[in-house]
Amino acid sequence: MTTTSRNQVSKNDELFERAQKTTPGGVNSPVRAFRSVGGTPRFITRAEGPYFWDADDKRYIDYIGSWGPAIVGHAHPVVVKAVQEAAARGLSFGAPTEGEILMAEEICRLVPSIEQVRLVSSGTEATMSALRLARGATGRDKIIKFEGCYHGHADSLLVKAGSGLLTFGNPTSAGVPEDFVKHTLVLDYNNVAQLEQAFAEFGDEIACVIVEPVAGNMNLIKASEAFLQAMRALCTKHGSVLIFDEVMCGFRVALGGAQELYGIKPDLTALGKVIGGGLPVAAFGGSAELMSKMAPLGAVYQAGTLSGNPVAVAAGMTTLKIIQQPGFYQQLSATAARLAAGLTKAAKDAGIVFCADAVGGMFGLYFSETPPNNYAEMMAGDRARFNVFFHAMLDEGVYFAPAAFEAGFVSAQHSDAVIDETIAAAARVFKKLAA
Ligand SMILES: *Cc1c(COP(=O)(O)O)cnc(C)c1O
Repeated sequence: MTTTSRNQVSKNDELFERAQKTTPGGVNSPVRAFRSVGGTPRFITRAEGPYFWDADDKRYIDYIGSWGPAIVGHAHPVVVKAVQEAAARGLSFGAPTEGEILMAEEICRLVPSIEQVRLVSSGTEATMSALRLARGATGRDKIIKFEGCYHGHADSLLVKAGSGLLTFGNPTSAGVPEDFVKHTLVLDYNNVAQLEQAFAEFGDEIACVIVEPVAGNMNLIKASEAFLQAMRALCTKHGSVLIFDEVMCGFRVALGGAQELYGIKPDLTALGKVIGGGLPVAAFGGSAELMSKMAPLGAVYQAGTLSGNPVAVAAGMTTLKIIQQPGFYQQLSATAARLAAGLTKAAKDAGIVFCADAVGGMFGLYFSETPPNNYAEMMAGDRARFNVFFHAMLDEGVYFAPAAFEAGFVSAQHSDAVIDETIAAAARVFKKLAA
């Protein structure tokens, strides 16, 4: 039970009780349920800039930013106005609009590996469709993914490593047939030797490699340059499609995404989160030649009633314009770096084993000596201590992702003062943790 400062029962508790009667676990996406950290999820009533407020009207500095989309800050007036104007013109037509052309042109210009793009409504659809395209284009079934990378909840991607090295995967969800994941090879992130071995054994049967080039679903883990370079070279050599899942890191770690940061050109890219600016827009794209295999031109089928929805596209397009303002990413990166450095120093001062890292507007917090390089190292961090830290920060009015496995996000509205307020709160919490 959470209580308000006046010691009344929290409205969040009441809402959570009620929600669980009609919605499984009381939430519409599992991580929101606080299962990993325990306690009652906060029900959000409104948000503005770097803040949101819960049902008790308690204010939080928000470091999830809707899990990435809120890069320009919540309820940015220019984005809200564009959405209102689009809504007034009609909510959905089921026929093409000029706005979709403008959005496609913008994405192709900002991400040069994309010559053609298809808009969808969720990251899951984007990666699922990219996978189908890779399989359709190569005529192969096998795919490679990496442990700890999340690519949405499509069947063949809900897989963990098999029992032995280079065995095909096991489902991580009930309801996923073994038959669907038997083509998915799950390897360790940042392990070049294993990747080489997999291609040596199965090379010409592999349709694609799918990777988060900056991983954000096992906390924040950076890919080594050697790992991504090896992946690119092996895919080229064996005629496999390299898919960068930039649903999270796209327009987040740099304007051109991780592919710009690392200077590597994938064959297909999946985008989401930031490109909808808070409304449901995602996309996948690549060379015109590959994309021509999509229906209605080609044999790979994919469709969506609300794909390219005009209101969602208005939010996304306006967000893409704002992030192109000069200095936007310098400022965003400086903000995340300031937070990571400040938290690290505060922990050190208190004698707590902790480190933090940031890439562009994403950051990771780790209760370990050094940042992890793969899933196993991430899991070895002190998760119990994270949970105590999380709740103490929540009490301080700072909302980090409610699980040690998640990355954090800053927005352009997180001013130095907001960051410093966060660091001061963390310094108090670290001292308590050390006591
Ligand atoms: C969030 C995410 C997805 C899934 O996107 P949804 O819009 O939640 O379906 C896929 N890949 C990555 C890397 C993500 O972070």
